Formats: sequence, structure tokens, C-alpha cells
Amino acid sequence: MPLLPKKICETITMDFDSLIENKSGLGTAGIVVINKDQDIIACMARIARFYKHESCGQCTPCREGAGWMYRILDRVEKRKATFNDIDLLSDVTKQIEGHTICAFGEGSAWPVQGLLRHFRKEIESRCREEPLIKKKINNPYLVDQHLLENKNA
Ligand code: SF4
Repeated sequence: MPLLPKKICETITMDFDSLIENKSGLGTAGIVVINKDQDIIACMARIARFYKHESCGQCTPCREGAGWMYRILDRVEKRKATFNDIDLLSDVTKQIEGHTICAFGEGSAWPVQGLLRHFRKEIESRCREEPLIKKKINNPYLVDQHLLENKNA
């Protein structure tokens, strides 16, 4: 089920209707409480790794998407992700959601959607800009000075 922050959990009754109103759910009624001292990104990367491992592989979105989510979250955790990775992560969850034959797909995508919804600042604080070389913009600093010399043109 989608992750919820403490400030929401403290103000709602934890029943089916309230949780659905807050874009989460009771699911199988098993609740995981994550202490604020924990690294929430690392926790979610760990959960994504679980889904990657447990996917039976029958549906492509679940089989491939779970791995994508894990690898992106792992990059975010290690501060190796770029801002583009955040949109990519969101896209992957949408590609899984509703496109698999069992609920395991949603089970893997929804927690990550909750993370994106409520902990986006935490994710962004660990991401960096795309390297200039990948942006395909005309940046004079990226011109190879070697090629500007006539003899090398
Ligand atoms: S959604 Fe269900 S059936 Fe499809 S690959 Fe995942 S675990 Fe298997």
C-alpha cells in the first residue's frame, strides 16, 4: 500500500475508508511503521528489492518494472541519481499499475508512489542535475577545443 507520513497517520482513523481517502489502503491489514531515524529512501529501496526478487516474472511490467524501481531507488539512496530519475521512477510505477495479472504489481508500485507523493523533497535533496553533456544544449564550455583548430577539423 502507498506509504503515508506520520502527520497523516496521526490525524485519520486507520480504517479502509479513511486510508483510501488519503490515497493509501489497509490492504491485508498488516502495517509497517518506520521509525523517523531510519533512512526512508533506503527502506523503500529495500522493499523494492524484495519485490524485484519475488516477482514470478510472468508479466513484463512487474518483472522489469520492479528491477527498474529498485535500481533507481538504489541510485537515489547513494546520491547517484539525477532529477530526471524522479520522473522516470514515477513513470515506471504508472507502467506497472493496472498492467499486470495479479495485485503484486500494484503491491510493488504503490509504496513507491506514496514515497514520491509525500517524500519528494527528501528524494530531490539527494539528486543532482543531469550532466551537461547529456542535456544536448549548445554549451560553449563543452566544445572540444582540439576540434576548433583548423588542422584537426
Ligand atoms: S504481477 Fe503477479 S503474475 Fe505478474 S509477474 Fe508480478 S507476481 Fe507474477
